[in-house]
Amino acid sequence: MFDKLREECAVMGVFGHPEAANMVYLGLYALQHRGQESSGIVSSDGKVLVSHRQMGLVADIFKEEVIKRLEGASAIGHNRYSTSGQSHIKNAQPFVVEYVQGPIAISHNGNLVNAGVLRDELEASGSIFQSTSDTEVIIHLIATSRETTLMGRIVEALSRARGAYSLLFLTLDRMIAARDPMGFRPLVLGEFKSGRTRGFVVASETCALDLIEAQYLREVEPGEIITFGPKGMESLKPFPPAPHAKCIFEYIYFARPDSNLYGRNVYLVRKELGRQLARENGVEADLVTPVPDSGVPAAIGYAEESGLPLEFGLIRNHYVGRTFIEPQESIRHFGVKIKLNAQREVLEGKRVVVVDDSIVRGTTSRKIVRMLRDAGAKKVHMRISSPPTTGPCYYGIDTPTRSELIASASSVEEIRKFIDADSLCYLSHEGMYGFLDGRTQGFCDACFSGNYPVHFDDEGHTRQLHLFDATQQR
Ligand code: AMP
Repeated sequence: MFDKLREECAVMGVFGHPEAANMVYLGLYALQHRGQESSGIVSSDGKVLVSHRQMGLVADIFKEEVIKRLEGASAIGHNRYSTSGQSHIKNAQPFVVEYVQGPIAISHNGNLVNAGVLRDELEASGSIFQSTSDTEVIIHLIATSRETTLMGRIVEALSRARGAYSLLFLTLDRMIAARDPMGFRPLVLGEFKSGRTRGFVVASETCALDLIEAQYLREVEPGEIITFGPKGMESLKPFPPAPHAKCIFEYIYFARPDSNLYGRNVYLVRKELGRQLARENGVEADLVTPVPDSGVPAAIGYAEESGLPLEFGLIRNHYVGRTFIEPQESIRHFGVKIKLNAQREVLEGKRVVVVDDSIVRGTTSRKIVRMLRDAGAKKVHMRISSPPTTGPCYYGIDTPTRSELIASASSVEEIRKFIDADSLCYLSHEGMYGFLDGRTQGFCDACFSGNYPVHFDDEGHTRQLHLFDATQQR
């Protein structure tokens, strides 16, 4: 049994720009929040694909001499983050493979729910895997397809994949973007003018387009495959239409607030969630304070709606790396203190509403409540701008396994006791959709509701989703 990866990722591709790799680098820079473990770019000059993949952050990896080597007018890139212990260069993307029709590179955001089944089948018929990533399954399906054209192979491969994929492929003369029929993960299309020619960009989020001054055109639609080639742009919808299941958690936490997601500005959505939270769960208090950065827009909305002043009682250090040396002499709540500092001058003697976007394990909230009290807060009321996170994500958000999610087995009152807040309230499920006038269709909210839109692959296999839970795969 192989280790199942749970990955958060960004994809970015540019077609028809003399400095394609440089544009992709800038896009990946803007999308760093979606993955901080490894990054890679593959470019095409029409004759060869050139690849650079490395562990680390975008700005540290792509120095001038690296970008110079990545020549050509088209390029795709990828940022990756996984916490399941598979932190290894062999899993860094884009992957490049040679198949009968030449080299092809692939970048993938999302998780397939039937990757294990497909992998077993492919291995049984002789495929040799080099990584533990779902993405390699797609490559092997393409390579072993009996179809004669590349598009035929891609369509056949994707018709067997179940779950979430926002994909970019690069060949010597084409870039191809594909999004799964349910549209779990975002993928947007933009264009830019480069001299007299029109070029295209495809990225996980619109903030990547803004940085390179590309114009947003539209989303790559669920189930759509777009080819960018010598003849321009061609769109194909080869799969039967499926109900859409766009990730609501991108709005709550994951996407950058300056992105436009599924047609709406993320910052304004988060503010609206905060307003709704205040309408549902108001409390007598002196001030509202966000858990920065993710809680800031919702806290602004909460403060506006409640009429309470917004103050930054917690200040974040933006330069915290992923590792730091802990002093041997114990400092209480060291991990959170490195990142956040509570301001006594703001908090002392105050009844504080503290707003965050979600509680996962509960350990951060617990430490934050303690910090606020230590800094003199008289009351601490925790408000969360989403419903309780009760289930893991199988479609590309890195939530821990069910047993580690505090809300999977504890009531709100039990969580309140654990984090030691004076009160704790979450946004209601209906309230989460308030900004859409209550329309809930078209979204995946499985992490809050337990309604998983794809349960198991429909090819006769009865592996239920829980078999793909990371703990049971390790
Ligand atoms: P916890 O201590 O596990 O309850 O962590 C809660 C914090 O993690 C909140 O401040 C969230 O903004 C943040 N968070 C929520 N989901 C994720 C995620 N998928 N990756 C990283 N951080 C997250």
